[in-house]
Amino acid sequence: MKALINLHKNFRLALKRVTCLRRMTDTGQKASTSTLSSASPSALSLSDVRPVVAVCQLTSTSDKEKNFNVCRALIERAKKRGANMVFLPECFAYMCESTDQYLAAAETMEGEIVAKYKELAQSLQLWLSLGGFHQKGPADDPKRLWNTHIIIDSQGHIAAQYDKLHLFDLDIKGKVSLKETNFTIPGNNVVPPVETPIGKVGMAVCYDLRFPEMSSYLVQQGAEILTYPSAFTQTTGLAHWEVLLRSRAIENQCYVIAAAQTGRHNAKRTTYGHAMVVDPWGCVVAECHEGEDVCLAEIDLEYMRKVREQMPVQEHRRRDIFGTMTNLKSLAPLDEPRSYQFGQHTIDSSIVFYKTALSLAFVNRKPVLPGHVLVCPLRPVERFNDMTPAELCDMFQVVKQVSEVVDREHNSTSLTIAVQDGPDAGQTVKHMHVHILPRKKGDFANNDDIYQKLEKHDKNLDGTEETNSGKWRTLEDMAAEASRLRTLFK
Ligand code: AMP
Repeated sequence: MKALINLHKNFRLALKRVTCLRRMTDTGQKASTSTLSSASPSALSLSDVRPVVAVCQLTSTSDKEKNFNVCRALIERAKKRGANMVFLPECFAYMCESTDQYLAAAETMEGEIVAKYKELAQSLQLWLSLGGFHQKGPADDPKRLWNTHIIIDSQGHIAAQYDKLHLFDLDIKGKVSLKETNFTIPGNNVVPPVETPIGKVGMAVCYDLRFPEMSSYLVQQGAEILTYPSAFTQTTGLAHWEVLLRSRAIENQCYVIAAAQTGRHNAKRTTYGHAMVVDPWGCVVAECHEGEDVCLAEIDLEYMRKVREQMPVQEHRRRDIFGTMTNLKSLAPLDEPRSYQFGQHTIDSSIVFYKTALSLAFVNRKPVLPGHVLVCPLRPVERFNDMTPAELCDMFQVVKQVSEVVDREHNSTSLTIAVQDGPDAGQTVKHMHVHILPRKKGDFANNDDIYQKLEKHDKNLDGTEETNSGKWRTLEDMAAEASRLRTLFK
């Protein structure tokens, strides 16, 4: 086995040299390690100073304190070498032999482990990605935990947390058997890419790497860097690790950062290692040596943009044939107070009750019927045909989800779902939107009378938009309805 691993390694190193060379010649760009050193000092401007990431490789055991000390030493070393953000692998806090041990050692987000890393991030003034934290499950589910990837900012605050979506159940007879579903609660959603000093980071964990639709989705949402903190087994790592990481980088034309567990953790568990950073051309630009280690790479988003520009894969997608990557549950955070543009109007976030990366759902200031709500693309697009395929798919997914909720809330028997595309079709607000109205038997003398009502309810007699705010609902009234509706999506 050892000989096989060495053979594989030597082959990979040779291959890596070839790929990096190809990257230099094909794109006319030097590999990132030589870019800074080859430039004359006077030619360097501040904008040439690229952010630096550090990717760690650990052999975690069940000893939490020892693990923390190793991580701290690696993070401090990375800081001294100029890292802006440091990445730790799945199970960075501990790795146990049995499910019971995992459950007993699990902590909450308010526990000691997370507190220690928050303090470390703040004292060293750097960002941390903590892949795969065993987060204690809810009180009514004591036999399971969440596998949570946490990003901490340089102020020591949690910037984002993501619960692993794809759980790893593996049974290769006589070699390795692991059943994560036995003790882990699967995540429920993708987290929108996180703004960090190194770029927009898409969060994933280990086994998620095998699901390219997740990486495509994150990149479609703006991710520039994909992260896969991992604990790959020896068997699967040897066969698939680097191929998968490089594939995700190449097909998405983005950076991939993959911290890893390595070596023998206990009698039952051995992992593959090879923590690495892959650039948008698919070149491995940093890789840890054997054992516990940290290695660094520059993130060059300008280079990423060049790769995307020279081969615009995203633009070449045949969405007409394969559709658009959509996330049926892409609820984005609603909590921050802000305003949104709705045509000529400004919408306060308190009246928004559902939001995805591309669409908004909010209550109506002058409903034609109780429960009359609106869904629109976040981008102020005027006409139906101006929407991108992604916006269209997302908006109609939202319409479906909102319809279900409104239907239930108002005990309706039918729904009017209407689009008025352009002024001569009755559109007053120059921003594509869908009206959703819960209907009941006999709510109008004739069912289609609603279209006349829709045509007139927000207009003056001369057809101009009604501006008499006395006829509108109060903000408090609308916010109360939105707040009630929000709870129905959880
Ligand atoms: P349309 O006439 O099809 O353009 O519909 C516009 C809809 O947006 C109407 O139902 C209005 O009552 C509603 N509306 C306009 N401005 C606001 C606003 N600021 N907040 C909530 N609803 C609004």
